Amino acid sequence: MCPGIRPARHVAILMPFEVPESVYYRIIEHCRSCLPFEGCGLLAGTAGRVSVFYPMVNTEQSSSRFLMDPAEQFQVMRSMRESGMEMLGICHSHPDGPPYPSETDIRLAVYEDAVTLIVSFAGGGITVRAFRIAAGTVTAVPLRRS
Ligand SMILES: [Zn+2]
Repeated sequence: MCPGIRPARHVAILMPFEVPESVYYRIIEHCRSCLPFEGCGLLAGTAGRVSVFYPMVNTEQSSSRFLMDPAEQFQVMRSMRESGMEMLGICHSHPDGPPYPSETDIRLAVYEDAVTLIVSFAGGGITVRAFRIAAGTVTAVPLRRS
């Protein structure tokens, strides 16, 4: 990016988050395998394009919270860097809750550049939505399967 030239914030927010169909189904399968607990994982890729999903262990083993194992997270993030990828998204599921960040999700969001992907199994369905959470503000991001 040219120094001194920054895209306007709203332009970045309106850009759809693209997830390949195969990755999309891996996310759902992983989160489903974690039921009745929340499942979680990281999305990585290059140039803003997701190519890999890393399923992660939810050390909380809870249906309303998730916590990634710091050692596993460190290892996965190092593997991303070594493959020339960046972390583009953090996903987790809501076994019974809506596909929207909870107050805890908003409070604990630390990676403002990453998209938060939420898979909801509420009501027996499957709904996947994407958001950006920055400084306590949640913005919906269009999710596009490619
Ligand atoms: Zn959540």
